[in-house]
Amino acid sequence: MPRPSLVQRHQLQQSERAQQSRLRRLRLAEPQPGARVVVEGREYLGLADNDYLGLADHPALKAAAARAIETQGVGARSAHLILGHGPEHAALEREVAEWLGQPAALLFGSGYLANLGVLQGLLSPADLCVQDKLNHACLLDGAKLSGALLRRYPHADVAAAERQLQSAERPALLATDGVFSMDGDLAPLQELTALCQRESVLLYVDDAHGAGVLGACGRGTAAELGVQDQLPLQLVTLGKAFGAYGGVVAGQQEWIEAILQSARPYLFATALPAPLAAAARAALRIIASDEGAQRRAQLHAMVDRFVGAAAELGLPLLPSRTAIQPLLLGDDARCMRVAAALAEQGIWVGAIRPPTVPAGQARLRIALSARHTEDDVDRLLQALHTVLGQEREARE
Ligand SMILES: *Cc1c(COP(=O)(O)O)cnc(C)c1O
Repeated sequence: MPRPSLVQRHQLQQSERAQQSRLRRLRLAEPQPGARVVVEGREYLGLADNDYLGLADHPALKAAAARAIETQGVGARSAHLILGHGPEHAALEREVAEWLGQPAALLFGSGYLANLGVLQGLLSPADLCVQDKLNHACLLDGAKLSGALLRRYPHADVAAAERQLQSAERPALLATDGVFSMDGDLAPLQELTALCQRESVLLYVDDAHGAGVLGACGRGTAAELGVQDQLPLQLVTLGKAFGAYGGVVAGQQEWIEAILQSARPYLFATALPAPLAAAARAALRIIASDEGAQRRAQLHAMVDRFVGAAAELGLPLLPSRTAIQPLLLGDDARCMRVAAALAEQGIWVGAIRPPTVPAGQARLRIALSARHTEDDVDRLLQALHTVLGQEREARE
């Protein structure tokens, strides 16, 4: 038997993707002020990124990064446990921990690396990892890397989570997104906290889309739901509302120490560059200040305006009150058509297909931001109304 060809297998996969409208294409994008983005030479109203508070180009972040470059250069030069752990990193960890009311924190190169590190570092093949079915891909990847027994429960179904936990008598960790990245709804953290306390299970909340945006002082989903003081371990990512890059795991000292000792993405990766840590510190100062509160108020006002008007227009939005507003279209090809028609109208939204979402649940992911104005939201609504109306006529 000749060896089956790797090249041929990839060619086959590629043509299957094309047939199913699932090919992904890289596009050259240049962000502009005021939530505008130039994509391949044309300017659009941008509703596809995660810069929820408009901090990515904030003067305070730029100045902090520039100062750190001036004093420390660009690269971190080594891993944290060699000589890569500098004053900006240490201060960022301390400040994030204080902000959240957590005893300790550990900085990773990204949110993705942090999730790989937390799950691989804390879990072994003898353990159980229970997860919401709609959790972010990197939580699943972390569980796979750990070798733990992985059980997933239907989205936000706490009774099912309890059954999964009781299905194996093993040390266990339950991981959930705080705000679900493609749905915009919140995890039932009050019930999950109680469940995990009852079952002596470690609860880990990935708050990539809640941190900075929800709760008092932007402390995130758990703060919004009144359980921040009960969370043993949580993740704040720095590339979304923080407008920088990186991931901070915050929680009880013993968990942080265990992760530091054993997480391979922590041990064997170069530290985050200091200028990014400095920018994240500047972002945190804004997030915890009056300016942060004003930016959150602006974002939430845009969400309310959009959700209220969309309901009147009968748009098929999923029930979300966060910046992430998914418009369910179902079919992959239809989703691509509608996104293209919106682009014709000068509006850029995310067209999300499997495997990012389950098959048959392709959607537009409309991401609102404090940078958007009432006029922007009205223009979006008008375009959605027009495009979906034309589409309905074309189908009839
Ligand atoms: C974006 C995201 C991550 C990954 O964070 P990065 O900092 O972008 O690597 C992790 N979890 C969730 C839920 C996310 O949305």
